[in-house]
Amino acid sequence: MTHAARRFLDFCQGTVPVVGRKGAMIRKMLLSALFYGLFLGAGILPGGAPAQDATSTTRDEAAVLAPTRPLAAALFDLDTLPGVVRTDAPVPGWAISQGGETVGHIASTWEVIRSVGYSGRPIDILVALSMDGRIAGAELVRHSEPILTLGLSDQDISRFVGGFAGIDLADPEGRGAGPEMPEIISRATVTTGVIRDSILRTARLLAIGRGLVGGGGIDQLSFEPQSWAELAAIGAVQERSVSLSEARAALTEADPPIPEGDAPFITLWAGLMDPPTIGRNILGEYAYNKAIAELGAGRHLLFVGSQGVYSHRGIDWRRSGVFDRLQLSQNGLVFPLTDAGYTRIDEVAPEDAPPLRERSLFQIGGEGFDPAQPFELTLTASRAGGSGEEVSFDTVLDYQLPAQFVRKPPPEAAPLWHQTWQDSTFAIASVAAMQIALTLILLFQEPLVRRKRQWMYLRIGFLTLTLVYLGWILGGQLSVVQVIAFVQSLLTGFRWETFLIEPVIFILWAGVALGLLFWGRGVFCGWLCPFGALQELTNMIAKRFGVPQIAVPHALHERLWIIKYTLFMAILAVSFYSMTDALILAEVEPFKTAISMRMMRAWPFVAFVLVLLLAGLFIERFYCRYLCPLGAALAIPSKLKIFDWLRRRPQCGRECRLCETKCTVGAIDPLGRINPNECVLCMRCQVILNDPETCPVLKRRARKTAA
Ligand code: SF4
Ligand code: SF4
Repeated sequence: MTHAARRFLDFCQGTVPVVGRKGAMIRKMLLSALFYGLFLGAGILPGGAPAQDATSTTRDEAAVLAPTRPLAAALFDLDTLPGVVRTDAPVPGWAISQGGETVGHIASTWEVIRSVGYSGRPIDILVALSMDGRIAGAELVRHSEPILTLGLSDQDISRFVGGFAGIDLADPEGRGAGPEMPEIISRATVTTGVIRDSILRTARLLAIGRGLVGGGGIDQLSFEPQSWAELAAIGAVQERSVSLSEARAALTEADPPIPEGDAPFITLWAGLMDPPTIGRNILGEYAYNKAIAELGAGRHLLFVGSQGVYSHRGIDWRRSGVFDRLQLSQNGLVFPLTDAGYTRIDEVAPEDAPPLRERSLFQIGGEGFDPAQPFELTLTASRAGGSGEEVSFDTVLDYQLPAQFVRKPPPEAAPLWHQTWQDSTFAIASVAAMQIALTLILLFQEPLVRRKRQWMYLRIGFLTLTLVYLGWILGGQLSVVQVIAFVQSLLTGFRWETFLIEPVIFILWAGVALGLLFWGRGVFCGWLCPFGALQELTNMIAKRFGVPQIAVPHALHERLWIIKYTLFMAILAVSFYSMTDALILAEVEPFKTAISMRMMRAWPFVAFVLVLLLAGLFIERFYCRYLCPLGAALAIPSKLKIFDWLRRRPQCGRECRLCETKCTVGAIDPLGRINPNECVLCMRCQVILNDPETCPVLKRRARKTAA
């Protein structure tokens, strides 16, 4: 092997030659930092913070794609081209109008919720919402999703995305909660899940922002006749009273002093009048309708009535325009009551209302005021003091609009991954059981490798289960596409939900991440990779039928490793430029054809798989040895493994090279050393090493003992 090739391979395998133990330690620390950095960055290990703010989107990706007039017409099923007017707040989008009337709104999922697909790249859907709070239609305008590589047509995608039309946001889980999925799309569960969640979340925010459905605001529609006593009983009108004696005690320096007595110094009533059930009942229909008609955007109506010797209005407001005796505050913010929008009310409507000396209606509100949240109305009472200075005290009336007048926001559709985890309980349990069984096999391998026959049955049984159940039935095939999607998501904003949509893949990856740490890539490649199992089983059958095995000279064998590392690096590098191109390059993986789609694919893909399997009949695990980019990706952190339980003898490589020729993937070099980056942990060499009928060293020992 040339020096340059050797250096490249060393770099890929993490085996850059270093001098002494210090160098080895530094290399291991660097690799550990890289490995943990990736997982911590994604929040996979405790303490990891999601890289939500990180972004590597290009300027093109960051740009928002506006709906064209023909697209708006198509989404709302209009005969003529409508007007499309941009609106930036409170939720960015476009108002769609026809004949001077607004027919609906459109928003971009990328702009509103920064929707990112399985590829880690923006997925942008324009969602159209009609004025009755229903989704009118949706159009996928940009994506880099792997579903393209499944051979989907644009019509398939449009049919799926457009199928969300008709969903009522007040009941997103109800009838018509999602379109029927074409069979081919239903296999791309992550992408369809992201599309569904993006459409529903964006539509919900748009509907709330445009006031098409309730969103934590107050009920301004329903009306029920209520008396003053009934409204007071539910807290719609609240009261605070200060007697003469209490005021006298609070204003001891007032001159003249306030007389003693139980009569009210002031009794204050206050209530929000926006809900018709409160406002119309207290103000009367005419006054209420007039006040509502005059109400500015974002403003609300506060009624204040009082009786007693003290006025809640005073007279200074006529000069200053500010009612200085009253102060409204909420969460530390103060909202002055001014004469702008003030109305003096001559009488209130309920017959059972207390006799009020003063009645005022204020327009209140402003930045930060939420009428659905508690607020305080403070009355400051002041009198001239004996020394000529003014003395004062405060009385606070706490107000909270009763819950029955607060509109609840529409229910949020449960994330799709909740449903997929619930629906996949058996699959999750069975895959977890396979992983636990494999852990036990690896932990207690010593007694197993001493029993050649049991090891063989166990291996054939496990590989068959992996191929048939995990691969063909559950679709549990990991892929290099997931590795690059993960890397991309770290750069564009990691979202757990994206990876949780496929529970089997998620727990497989979780197990592989742990397994890499303990045993290296062999945990997956040797036991849980369905295509690896398919190659090994077909090679076993071939050997049984006497198909000759080709021994690739070690020098050539080593050089061929470069192909898989180069492929992995190329796919990763291209993904930074174009995810679509990277996914096309990732078609070098036969997994989708052979496992996920069970050979139901166009003939060139099937032919490619058959060629690989045919090569594997003569060179065991041909694809694993030289071509697999996923195997290469898993080999890179394999140096970090903690356990190294594969035994060697001093004679291995010197006196005997049997294991080297029998190794499943050619991971043993002519000197008898096991390359941890290549080893798939099949334990075949350990069985040979412990078999007194096969291992020449044991045979010689036996002969000596017998002699
Ligand atoms: S090298 Fe690739 S094909 Fe082979 S077992 Fe590993 S992941 Fe599967
Ligand atoms: S035979 Fe030994 S060295 Fe080769 S893959 Fe299996 S366990 Fe690893």
